[in-house]
Amino acid sequence: MLDMFSLEGKLAIVTGSARGIGQSYAVGLAKAGATLVLVDILEDNLKETAQLIKDETGRDSKTYGIDVTDSAKINSMVKEIIAEYHKIDILVNNAGINAPKPFLEVTEDDWKKIVGVNLNSQFLMSHAVAKEMVKHNYGKIINMASVGGFMALSDTAPYNASKGGVLQLTKTMAADLSQYKLNINAICPGFIDTGLLKPSKSRDQRLQKVMDNTPLNRLGNPNDLVGACIFLASDASSYMTGTQIIVDGGMSAVAM
Ligand code: NAP
Repeated sequence: MLDMFSLEGKLAIVTGSARGIGQSYAVGLAKAGATLVLVDILEDNLKETAQLIKDETGRDSKTYGIDVTDSAKINSMVKEIIAEYHKIDILVNNAGINAPKPFLEVTEDDWKKIVGVNLNSQFLMSHAVAKEMVKHNYGKIINMASVGGFMALSDTAPYNASKGGVLQLTKTMAADLSQYKLNINAICPGFIDTGLLKPSKSRDQRLQKVMDNTPLNRLGNPNDLVGACIFLASDASSYMTGTQIIVDGGMSAVAM
């Protein structure tokens, strides 16, 4: 790997890394040289990711089974990580959920849950981790947004609103934290074939419509996003902050 993309000696946290995109990010960052802290709501499911990393790189990973909306758990986790590794170089705020429903069927609980996991958790994790990063004048925070953060996908009001919030959080953190030389950027995927798409997989017609409107004419897979993540986590992107990389097969570039 070119030196500018190397993550040798870096400590990276990836939330939602038990499966899907987060698992691919964690393995990709490890292959680029980073030591990984894996976070997901179910610790047992993280063992698979830790094993994949061990098989690929020979390195051990630390795992935390916590809910990333729980600020007390986040703060004690960050304290433990600092006690063991003394710094955090990279944070990937990837954990996220969706529950597609027509707007009039969305309940207050749906709204609170989706915005809580997708947006509030990114604030809580970033707040706890950035406090440590500023001590070293170094840090890369990568927030998972979505094309839904800047264009309307039907039946997903809380999801789209939360991802729009993620994009604004990303820009504002970039403005506030640039004095400490932190880089804060987002990734906006289109439709990626993971568990998150399950509720809409039964809606074959809808997915077919998406693919018909995607110039590259297929769903993405988690590995399609790994290059963008390594780029934003590495010094290759040191003059980028407060912006986003769109990885959507061209979907958001074209009209119907
Ligand atoms: P996924 O396969 O469902 O994986 C998400 C992971 O996050 C799961 O392991 C899940 O744990 C974990 N998680 C959920 N709530 C959590 C919480 N409160 N605390 C800790 N971990 C939690 O989804 P994905 O498709 O990889 O999505 C990853 C990110 O990409 C999300 O932010 C999503 O919004 C974004 N994204 C995805 C797509 C897409 O088409 N797939 C498109 C645009 C953006 P459990 O397995 O235990 O539930």
